[in-house]
Amino acid sequence: AIANNNSLKPNKTPHVFRRKLKRGHHSVISVPGTMKDKDETHLYTKHSFLGEGGFAKCYKVFCPNGRFYAAKVISKSTLHDEKNRIKLFAEISIHRSLNHRSIVRFLNCFEDLTNIYLILELCDNKTLVELLRSRKRLTEPEVRFYLIQVLDACRYMHDNRVIHRDIKLSNTFLDKNMNVKMGDFGLAALLVDRNDRKKTICGTPNYIAPEILFEKTGHDHKVDMWSIGVLMYTLLVGTHPFQQSEVKYIYRKIKANEGKPSYKLPTYLGEDAKDLITKLLVNEPSQRLSVPEVLSHNFFQRGKLPCRIPKIAFQRIPTDE
Ligand code: ADP
Repeated sequence: AIANNNSLKPNKTPHVFRRKLKRGHHSVISVPGTMKDKDETHLYTKHSFLGEGGFAKCYKVFCPNGRFYAAKVISKSTLHDEKNRIKLFAEISIHRSLNHRSIVRFLNCFEDLTNIYLILELCDNKTLVELLRSRKRLTEPEVRFYLIQVLDACRYMHDNRVIHRDIKLSNTFLDKNMNVKMGDFGLAALLVDRNDRKKTICGTPNYIAPEILFEKTGHDHKVDMWSIGVLMYTLLVGTHPFQQSEVKYIYRKIKANEGKPSYKLPTYLGEDAKDLITKLLVNEPSQRLSVPEVLSHNFFQRGKLPCRIPKIAFQRIPTDE
């Protein structure tokens, strides 16, 4: 059934897969100028509109403590459906339990009569989607800089038995200093123990690991390592490795990756980059590198690593590289 779903956009999390709320409610969300709970212990002033997702509207808000945050607003009408309620509470309970410099900080949540409000760390510089869109592709030092932060967040999640399951450019936010903050825990799962496996089919077509599609025995944290391989390739090459005109062909190309790469490795890629990509995009999860193995790979050990990326990177290759 999944492979027949041709109409899906390859980089959108299809909502048949999403542990997200049903679409169609965001247009009716009415968001007050001041967001506050009954006791007025939380008080945030609406500043500007940030964006709209599957079920939430997101605003930049100002807090009396003098700081700006991002407020994700979800209409309570979406939560009449019990399944939606359970899903939202799962997302909240996983996200609020995480505390790491490369993960969007979850500050608090509250409700009024009509909405639920999630107050999150503000990411001023959008996501890697916008950065890549204006640059076409990034240099190896830049990719090293961003990937190290994604990997660090991932190591922390995996050490805490959390799998993100939707690592992709649009969930990799950039803060005001151009540092990475992983966000959107709408598909994340908490494993009961180290041997626990998940069976829900979820993810985003271009980033989905083969074992989610083709293995009945379930999946574990190694699905995030596959997505990191897709992310690395996309940042360096400018297109997704398994990109095809229809989702069913993407899955066919992922299946065909067994044994030898079914994607192209352009000649301008360095040898270490090519080697690391092929060791991440391995169909057999037990053969795929883990976070510590990726970090000790020559791509990270031998290559140049900038200590920061300036905002000018949105316009051109940063010159101090
Ligand atoms: P999705 O449904 O794609 O997961 P969200 O509902 O999480 O999207 O967010 C909708 C939009 O709001 C995003 O595309 C992004 O532009 C913006 N946004 C979300 N979280 C933040 C944040 N912490 N800081 C800044 N902008 C954010």
